[in-house]
This record gives sequence, structure tokens and C-alpha cells, in this order.
Amino acid sequence: VGGRRHPSIPLPVDLFGAEGHRNSAGLDLSDVATLEATVKAVNAPLAPAGGAVDLAVASADMPSPNPSREREGSDVAAAIGLAHAAFPGWSRTSVDDRAACLERLADLLEANRDELMGICVQEAFKTIPDAIGEVREAADFCRYYAREARAKLQPMELPGPTGERNTLHIEGRGVWTTIAPWNFPLAIFLGQTVAALVTGNAVVAKPAPQTPRIAAAAVRLAHRAGVPKDVLVLVPGGPEVGAALTADPRIQGVAFTGSTGTARKIARALLDDETRPIVPLIAETGGINAMIVDSTALPEQVVADVIASSFRSAGQRCSALRLLLVQADVADTVIEMLSGAMDTLTIGAPGDPATDVGPVIDRAAYDRLMGYRESVRTRWVKTLDVPADGLFVPPTLIRIDAIEDLNQEWFGPVLHVATWAAGTLSETIARVNAKGYGLTMGLHSRIARAAEVTEAEAAVGNLYINRSMIGAVVGSQPFGGEGLSGTGPKAGGPRYLYRFCAERAVSVDT
Ligand code: GLU
Repeated sequence: VGGRRHPSIPLPVDLFGAEGHRNSAGLDLSDVATLEATVKAVNAPLAPAGGAVDLAVASADMPSPNPSREREGSDVAAAIGLAHAAFPGWSRTSVDDRAACLERLADLLEANRDELMGICVQEAFKTIPDAIGEVREAADFCRYYAREARAKLQPMELPGPTGERNTLHIEGRGVWTTIAPWNFPLAIFLGQTVAALVTGNAVVAKPAPQTPRIAAAAVRLAHRAGVPKDVLVLVPGGPEVGAALTADPRIQGVAFTGSTGTARKIARALLDDETRPIVPLIAETGGINAMIVDSTALPEQVVADVIASSFRSAGQRCSALRLLLVQADVADTVIEMLSGAMDTLTIGAPGDPATDVGPVIDRAAYDRLMGYRESVRTRWVKTLDVPADGLFVPPTLIRIDAIEDLNQEWFGPVLHVATWAAGTLSETIARVNAKGYGLTMGLHSRIARAAEVTEAEAAVGNLYINRSMIGAVVGSQPFGGEGLSGTGPKAGGPRYLYRFCAERAVSVDT
């Protein structure tokens, strides 16, 4: 991906500063020397082998992706076979031992931060602040689920009459498959995977076809942290590999993040075979996320939060803002200020510290977004120039007449704007709810009653009031939607681990 070099440091992270994941893996963005070294490391050619996280694992430890459907099927079957054989031993290890593996993995992620960031930048086109966020969030997931597992997976003594001892055990179910997205190729890939591991399951993990190298690095570190190789097996590949995984009756659960359509296919596949047990599916899918702004909102704050929510990560987050709904009385002001703020975005190479918006993930995404953008050309309110060489989709603001005019998630830096009339907050929320998705929603208002109404009526998993709508923090904002946006439970939340578990009640007459 081409782009200008900006030797000037410190980072212009005024808009998109690394979000507040609360662990220690952060960069001190004001420390110029550290920052320069990191930027250099992130842009260094990826070592095919021999780097700290040793990408050689890509060929050494995992079945190779194979274009032939039949071979893929057998690779997947072999991988599941390894995990299946390893499960009983792993499930008998103590929760403490498994949690300790996750904590060592968090340390290793942090120790190898720059190299992992480099892979995120070069393979997934993450900007530097986003790459920092990836490593932080991945480490946060490890530490959080380790702590949760220790607290919640102990056997529970339950009451009974004298002479009867009742115990409830909670343990792994068997082999899980985790199917990860390319937009959080480290954080979500590992979050799903370590949750399954710490609860005592073996895992066959499938990264997105666009991001196998960062997954390979993560798996390598997990093995180094003490997870036995056969307990966590990586199978890179595309939809055929996913289909072979979900079709295998030895799979006891699926954790998936991706599109609603694919989640539906997985659900169908899991139920297809009459003889197969019914197993859990945890799906985290898309959304048509709206932010409602009323006339009491602070326009400067609205604009900063809209810019971050819509254009950070080139809009490639499930949580991203897709539909801005501004109260008609203030719409002209807000749109004008927003257009001005869009002009300050720097679009360029992902490893360039000046970049706010990088390229989109691949040619197919680029073509889809550019085709859509072109088809609504007459509705553009604002768009930007982008470098000619690379998959840069110009951040674009598109006016629509009615909330109902947007019925698809456009997974990129395109934001739609419509207005709503004073006095119709409840109706506006209901019209957004009617889309059937339910991931994130935002409200900007200084009226307490508006916040109460939205809190009560917004059918979403994550509601954000007077702030941006992205960057859910592990342990603070458990993440995940309802309706077409997902099944729950929420990632990074206190009830996530339970879904990965089986429970067994033992009653003994003593
Ligand atoms: N957890 C991320 C956020 O809050 C979004 C995850 C996703 O895109 O799947 O921004």
C-alpha cells in the first residue's frame, strides 16, 4: 500500500488516539524515542521465520490450506482428531493451571507487542493506534478470562438434607471451533479462543482467510505459554474449511464473529444431522448502528465522536456508526462541522504514524464499497480525496431521506445521515429498532429524560451516551448484540465463559 512517509513525530493521534484499553501494554504516545522505535519495528519487513513470534509456525504447525475441497476436509478432520484426543487430558487440568496459561500468554503478547503490531499493520492494514489496541485488547481478554475462570469455574456445593452431598461441577464440553473475523484478527481471534480454552475445551481455531499470519503468531505464543499443541490447533482457510469444521459431529460448540448470513449458515449446519447433539453457537455479527443527536448536544463533541465512530479503522468495526440521526433544527450546523472535521482526516498507509484512515481489507471489499458509493453519488454530502494507489475508500457522508432507506450494513468508511423531528425520540428509536439489528446505538443529548428513554427503548447490546460508539473495553463494556446482531453472551463480560461449559450435578448419599 503506497502512502507518504511522515517523519514528524509525535503522532497526530488527536482524533484517533489509542482507545482506553486499561492494561499496561500501551505505548506512551508522548515518549518520542519509544514511539519512533515502535514505528520502525512495525514497518520492518515481517520475518518469515525466526522472529520472536516465529512465523515459521505458519508452515510448521498447521495443516496447509489446500485449494482442493476434499483435501481441506481431511486436513480439518485431522485437526479435529488431534483436539478430540487431547480434550480429556486438558479438561482434567485445574482451572488455576489453565488460567495461568492465559496470564503467561498475556505477558508474551505484551513482550512481543511491536512484532504483533507489525503483522496487524502489514497483514490487516491496521493503523498504528488500532494495532496498539489489538495487542492491548488481546492481553486484556487473556487476563480477564483467567480471572473470571478462577472465580467462577470452581465446583459449587449445593444444599440438601442431612446425609446428602450435592455438588455442581462446571467444565469444558469438548472440542470447540472458533471462527474469527479479519477486522480484529488478534483480539477477537484470541478472545474467543482463550475463553474456550480456559473453560477446559480443546479448540480448532480458524482465522479469517485474510489474516492467517497474525493468528499463527498468536497460536505460537499460546503454545509457548503452556497450552499443549494438540489442545489448540490452527486451521487456516476459507469458507470450505469453515463448512468442514461445523459439519463435523465431534465439534461441541462454535464461537463465531462475522456476518449474520454466515452465522445463519453455521446454525443450519449444526442442526443438519439428526443424530448429532445440539451444541451451542455463540455468534457476534453485524449491525446498522445509529447515533441520535438532539438539539441540546454539544456539537464539537458530537463531531469528534462521529468521526471516531464512523471512520476509525476505516469503518471496519461491527460497532461502527452507520446512520447519524440529527434533530432537524441543528442538522445544518452539525453536518457543516462534520464536513469540516472530515477534511482534517489523514488517509494513507497504515504503518504511517500520521494516518487516521487506512485502506480497506481487500479488493472485494473495496469494489463493493466503491460500487455502492458510486450508486448514491447524487446523495453525497461530503467526500474526500484519497491516494490513488491502494485500496483507499474515500470517507463519505451520504444523505438519506428516511431511516428506512438504509437496510444494509456497509462495512467501511461510509456514513449516512438523516434528520428527525423534535418530539419524536421514541418513534425514532422504534424505527431504528425495526431494522432488526441490535448491536450498538449512540445518543448525544443533555436532557436526562432523553437518556432514560433511550436506555429503556433502544433494542441494542451496547448503548453509548455522550461518547463514541466504538472501542468497548474488556470487563467494562461487555460487547455483543441482539436480534440479527448476535446471540450473546457478551464478549469481555462476566457471563461469557458459562456458555462454553457443561454442568454436571453430583449427588451422593453419604
Ligand atoms: N469490540 C469492538 C468495538 O467495540 C468491535 C468488535 C467488532 O467489530 O466485531 O469497537
